[in-house]
Amino acid sequence: MKTTDFPEVAAEFTPTHDEQAGRHRVLANLAATVTRLARPVTTDVVTAVARRMLPGEAALQLVLDATHDGVVQFNAQGRLLAANPAAIRMFGLDPALLGDVNFADLIHVRSGLPAGADLLRPGQGEAVACRLHGPSFPVDLHISEGVSGEPGRRFAIVRDMSERLSAESRLAWLANFDPLTGLPNRGQLRERLQQAMRDADAHGRGLVLMCLDLDRVRNVNDNLGLAAGDRLLQLAALAIGEGARSAMQGMAGMTLLVARLSSDEFAVMIGGMTDGRDADRIARGILTALARPHMVEALEVFISARIGITRYPQPSCAPETLMLQAERAMRRAKALGLDTAMYEHLGQATEGPSRIALEAGLRHALERDEFHLVYQPKVHAASGAVAGVEALLRWHPEGDVVIGPDRFIPILEETGLIVPVGTWVLQTACAQMVRWQRGGMRPLKLAVNLSARQFRQPDLVGTIERILVETGFDPTLLQLELTESMLLDDIDDVVVILDRLGAMGVGIAIDDFGTGHSSLNYLKRFHLDTLKIDRSFVRDTPTDSGSCAIANAVIALGHALGVKVVAEGVETEAQAEFLRRSGCDRLQGYLFSKPLPPQDLLRWVLQRQVSHRVDVEHQAGVREVTRVG
Ligand code: C2E
Ligand code: CA
Ligand code: CA
Repeated sequence: MKTTDFPEVAAEFTPTHDEQAGRHRVLANLAATVTRLARPVTTDVVTAVARRMLPGEAALQLVLDATHDGVVQFNAQGRLLAANPAAIRMFGLDPALLGDVNFADLIHVRSGLPAGADLLRPGQGEAVACRLHGPSFPVDLHISEGVSGEPGRRFAIVRDMSERLSAESRLAWLANFDPLTGLPNRGQLRERLQQAMRDADAHGRGLVLMCLDLDRVRNVNDNLGLAAGDRLLQLAALAIGEGARSAMQGMAGMTLLVARLSSDEFAVMIGGMTDGRDADRIARGILTALARPHMVEALEVFISARIGITRYPQPSCAPETLMLQAERAMRRAKALGLDTAMYEHLGQATEGPSRIALEAGLRHALERDEFHLVYQPKVHAASGAVAGVEALLRWHPEGDVVIGPDRFIPILEETGLIVPVGTWVLQTACAQMVRWQRGGMRPLKLAVNLSARQFRQPDLVGTIERILVETGFDPTLLQLELTESMLLDDIDDVVVILDRLGAMGVGIAIDDFGTGHSSLNYLKRFHLDTLKIDRSFVRDTPTDSGSCAIANAVIALGHALGVKVVAEGVETEAQAEFLRRSGCDRLQGYLFSKPLPPQDLLRWVLQRQVSHRVDVEHQAGVREVTRVG
């Protein structure tokens, strides 16, 4: 059988060579006639005639061999199972490697499909196909359910329409597609983006746009010539689609569009997103596919890429805005100077490493020793003397800038990494305090933040107890900062945990107070010793009367409960003055000090103690002088 494996139509009937050749000729003519007449794409006519001439399956086989239409069979995932000679020519396939080709990689666009529909679903219409590693061409496409009874198997009949295109439509074609890769170009992407944004609005689903910047292409151009560079770009175009599609397996209802923006810049648009993390998985899939060796002029070439990511919906946003954001994020990724990187546009012209890049890095951060703690002092409101420090976590990935906790704590939370990292924080901070004390520093109170997941870890109390014993840190100097929302579920359990911590002497502060659903009822039940006025209220004191009222209310509430009140985020003397007069107990904020690395904190505390003593002595001196006078 000449045709590359059509299992279902394998000829059981073996005509003599002459017989076969003669029938071949007849059918080939017939097929050519059908093609010439440009009837709607179907081999029905040929098949009908063939069936009259030969027993069933053999007839079909001859038609398949003879027709100028490409016929392929593929499985539910789009993998090619079989292709007739015309399809092999048309798509430039290697018959031995059919199974490696996904039909979706050969069909770029199909007209008349509703947005979000499966590119390979049964139906008929115009489409854009491309040769494997080659240019694209317009086709008439007919996809039908397979007859083999195996679910998901389909047949496609593809008729190359390029010969029939008028000069005019050829121009229209070039206006929308990149002739080298056959991918939609920038203009076409813009149009499709607009449509996809409307679609996202209508269905309440998300949309992601990525811009990719490839490496090595210029290198290949310079060293191996332009033809090799072109080939590399075609391979890259395929790898991008393949990588995205393989990552998207199992993600239901999503659409993919790959476009070429300029020489070595591509874009990927994904519609129908419901889970934000999928974008990162897809980006990673693309990077992985690109990183595999690509054969160019018998050389293995590896491509690295930087991806910029942006997401929709966003308030009042045009397709151009999304494209700009993704491109800008891509430039930022490039500026990092890394081989592969992902940057995500995060609104208000800020970008950062994408979530998935962060997540991957965070998984190794502990063992690579990339975390460290900084300490921010709290002072007594009345005297300005050091009251204690709050330990704050920092992450310094190798080759990158230091990253603040607002970006990575949520990821640690989601992945559960917060539990080991939180244990490390407690351990490290307690050990540091003990080292300082042994070095002669006056014992300071230490506040450590706990996040929700940590608070819910099964043996929180046991872990804290163990750390206190191991480091020798005084439990009465330790204070845990929790947020209100963490305390509202299973209040009875929370009461038990807080009581056990209280019994050990560990203090509890409620962080960001005033931003949650404060309720006197539950506050009364908890073993607390501090409320921290959220810095959003502190920021607008003393000018904004609402913020002042809230700050005053929190102070009054705290004192009614018999706990201390700390104001955080104090940046100006006016704020400090207002809080002092309102009776706030402790102040914390940039006015006094930013969070400091250990050595700087030590210096700060020593200086403060000295100047504070000078203050006290100075006051005492003044009093004496007064008395003498
Ligand atoms: P938080 O507990 O509210 O920590 C105070 C944050 O306010 C810190 O940000 C601090 O640098 C910042 N800050 C302090 N003074 C000022 C000021 O005067 N003005 C302004 N604008 N900001 C000020 P940071 O270090 O980025 O921490 C952010 C949040 O991350 C913390 O908020 C805390 O919720 C969380 N976090 C930090 N370290 C840890 C940790 O070890 N474990 C857990 N679970 N969460 C942590
Ligand atoms: Ca805090
Ligand atoms: Ca806070």
